[in-house]
Amino acid sequence: MVIQLQNPNLFRTQAYVGGEWKSAATGGALKVVDPATGEEIGSVPMMSESEASQAVASAKSAFSTWSKTSAFERSELLMAWYERIIENSEDLARIMTLEQGKPLAEARGEVQGGAAYVKWFAEEAKRIDGEIISSPMSDRRFFVLREPVGVAALITPWNFPIGMVTRKVAPALGAGCTVVVKPAEQTPLTALALADLAHEAGIPAGVLNVVTGEPEVVGSVLSKDPRVSKISFTGSTEVGRLLMENAAPSVKKLSMELGGNAPVLVFDDADIELSVEQVLLSKFRNAGQTCVSANRVLVHAPIYADFVARLKDGMSKLVVGNGFANDTTVGPLIDKRATDKVKTLLADAVAKGAKLLVGGEQSKEGPNFFQPTLLSAVTAEMDVFQSEVFGPVLPIIKFDDEDEAIDLANQSDFGLAAYVYSTQSQRIWRVQGELQYGTVVVNTGAFGAPMAPFGGVKQSGFGREGSRYGLDEYMTLKWVCHAGL
Ligand code: ADP
Repeated sequence: MVIQLQNPNLFRTQAYVGGEWKSAATGGALKVVDPATGEEIGSVPMMSESEASQAVASAKSAFSTWSKTSAFERSELLMAWYERIIENSEDLARIMTLEQGKPLAEARGEVQGGAAYVKWFAEEAKRIDGEIISSPMSDRRFFVLREPVGVAALITPWNFPIGMVTRKVAPALGAGCTVVVKPAEQTPLTALALADLAHEAGIPAGVLNVVTGEPEVVGSVLSKDPRVSKISFTGSTEVGRLLMENAAPSVKKLSMELGGNAPVLVFDDADIELSVEQVLLSKFRNAGQTCVSANRVLVHAPIYADFVARLKDGMSKLVVGNGFANDTTVGPLIDKRATDKVKTLLADAVAKGAKLLVGGEQSKEGPNFFQPTLLSAVTAEMDVFQSEVFGPVLPIIKFDDEDEAIDLANQSDFGLAAYVYSTQSQRIWRVQGELQYGTVVVNTGAFGAPMAPFGGVKQSGFGREGSRYGLDEYMTLKWVCHAGL
């Protein structure tokens, strides 16, 4: 282990199946690398199809008892897990920074935010109520029951190694489903640490399984196995489409949280200081690697020059570095593929007439570090406008009026989150009504909350995470029509 932990048990390098820690039978392993240094920090089992299938079998077997527990029992176990996550929050944050690269302060924030989903769903599970509907005949009663859908496969990305796991596992377990989690190959250690804490909390064997390995191998089992009734996926639109195809023959219930391309509309009546501060936060948090990062900043012409000057000033205070260094505000990107993508997007934009105002180069800290970059004169013809940047590049576009801003904002196949900065409530309501996005965020850049339904429209997917709707993703309705009464 390359970092000191107060609870060294959390550094798990085996998969967790049926309540036991398992290596791959072949001995095959996948390296986990610190994105800041390129050093290997551990390895996890490269599980075969049959090993992934055993995890599904163990979840299926546990479902028969877990689905029959009372919501109150499940709630207490989730609360015990929550408490252990909080008790071990510093260790979890350190494991996360080690394998993901984000600044430690952000990792600490994510542990709290991720744990909040567990607490929320522990509470919400107790409110899985049914309904009685008036029937058209006096001798009949109509009952509506909410039942867990079955075994759920949860496939998560690397950008929020805790938050993405808890926002899926907690509602699934609360609903009475059992799960097989496949964390991203870049960040399996955080998910395994969470499994260790779930084990300690007394969550029964087989209810929560974590499998590691090649995405195609493990993913193919999880998305095709007929014993899996539900897939919840967060990741790229390409992989989402593939999982939907794989799931079609066995007709699984699906939740897809796919890519984003968040527009930020800054109007001339906005609080400019607040909007600059919040745009910087939304863009450079996690080095721009979030599905709700500000991807296209649309600025009203009258305030454009002032806004750009203030952005430059704010960006000059960002500190690129290793996430463990106290002053770091922008960590490394996850891997070389990510920095290559940023370089390609910038080259395309500059070739098509965009202007580099700040940055634009790989940073001296190492191959995965990239300078915070400000790009102006961006147009819809550029790839940087159309695709999810997932890096510390802030493209800005000037607009003249509200209609143009809305038109630019909606010129995307994605529809996850959009931001609006304005102090006029009529404008805010008018504009939000036109935005084709699953989430509209007004006058802030930070908005995660377990009690609110987060999710997208268009090619950003479907299904919602968080809130009571998030629980419904793991439940099905049963109508009982009782006649002859
Ligand atoms: P990114 O490009 O941001 O890494 P991905 O969509 O590739 O996003 O990854 C998100 C999650 O999907 C990860 O857990 C990854 O391992 C998984 N994944 C990637 N390819 C497949 C696949 N063919 N089948 C199942 N899961 C996959």
